[in-house]
Amino acid sequence: MIKDSGDRTEFETGAKRDMHAGKGRMDLLPWYGIMEVSKHCEEGALKYGEHNVDKGIPLHSLLDSAARHLAKYMVGMDDEDHLRAACWNLLWALNQRETHPELDDRFAIQIKENKKSMKDITCTCGKALTDEHGRAFRDVEQDINLPMLRWMLRCPECKKVTVVNWKEFTNE
Ligand SMILES: [Zn+2]
Repeated sequence: MIKDSGDRTEFETGAKRDMHAGKGRMDLLPWYGIMEVSKHCEEGALKYGEHNVDKGIPLHSLLDSAARHLAKYMVGMDDEDHLRAACWNLLWALNQRETHPELDDRFAIQIKENKKSMKDITCTCGKALTDEHGRAFRDVEQDINLPMLRWMLRCPECKKVTVVNWKEFTNE
């Protein structure tokens, strides 16, 4: 049986075809570029064995390599095909959205997730420091220590500082 999206296109020949919007257009892909990336796959298979990357690579590592190769290409370094290597890393980063979403370890994501659990933080005196979205109220002085993953909130009433440790919130 052939699935039918109910959305059909009739070609000039008179033939009809089910054309579901949002499926993508494989016929519009940049095939020369894809052939180039396939050479990188071939070299990788020789070096690390086939399907090594399928085991999953933390996203930060793919992005790190992609950015470095792109930077090298941009400054004119041609000791290897840096543009091709950048594309390979980015395509795998994209591929992992489907195959390894759990390996998305972008730092910005951690902050976003933590914000969810940072709502309604109150000072020991009872004054609310953050709202229901995890944002500090305007009269609350705040300071962020990124290396320590700490967020410091000064209570506008009793002046006490509440230190929020992002790490404590990640496993909630
Ligand atoms: Zn207070």
